[in-house]
Amino acid sequence: KGDSEQTLIEKLQARYETIDTSSVTKFSELPISPRTIKGLRECGYTKPTEIQKATIGLALQGKDILGAAQTGSGKTLAFIIPILEKLFSKQWTHLDGLGALVITPTRELAYQIFETLRKVGEHHDFSAGLIIGGKDLKFERNRMDQCNIIICTPGRLLQHMDENPLFDCVNMKILVLDEADRCLDMGFEQTMNAIIANIPLERQTLLFSATQTKSVKDLARLSLVDPSYVSVHENS
Ligand code: ADP
Ligand code: MG
Repeated sequence: KGDSEQTLIEKLQARYETIDTSSVTKFSELPISPRTIKGLRECGYTKPTEIQKATIGLALQGKDILGAAQTGSGKTLAFIIPILEKLFSKQWTHLDGLGALVITPTRELAYQIFETLRKVGEHHDFSAGLIIGGKDLKFERNRMDQCNIIICTPGRLLQHMDENPLFDCVNMKILVLDEADRCLDMGFEQTMNAIIANIPLERQTLLFSATQTKSVKDLARLSLVDPSYVSVHENS
């Protein structure tokens, strides 16, 4: 398995630099692993939306992204696919611990992202966890070190960072700030800043937002390095 998988990964990576997003009409035309393509197909996802077209190639290239697109435009897959591909390309295993972290403002959104990740990522071997409060803190605490991908709300995550010795993000490769404008509107600015200050700098960060307010730009300045700005307006 190891050798042939390594060969596949190298073939995919060799295509990253020449992705031509303007000509892409299907996910299967992108350099995405067969495992992810299969998961997408089984969920009925065959064609990328505008924001997915505009961001997935850049994300695969390892760029930091500030992505703005309205609600319902498909931002979830715009970060789930890069997460799966990044961990796959690094042949991430359970032993590697936390590789990706997604921060989203509400429990409901966290559940939805978790469900999409579970289905689209079904053919990968990554473990995923929800850290959203409401559940038993002890339960979350004890399982934390077994997760490769964590979907969380800001307050609960910071609580684990402060109190839980099992929370370990030193290996983390990719951070997603989802619905950043809503996180800030809900008063999580300090919490987000504290979280970002706790996460290793050697990482890729994808920040998604429906609107680009001043506070989103401030957060972007704190969290992104030389970002690509992507703004998609449907019907334009
Ligand atoms: P946003 O986060 O931008 O508000 P979502 O990621 O929640 O949007 O997606 C909105 C809806 O669009 C969901 O029901 C999702 O299943 C659907 N969707 C997303 N991407 C695709 C796609 N490529 N093809 C078909 N449906 C999609
Ligand atoms: Mg969303």
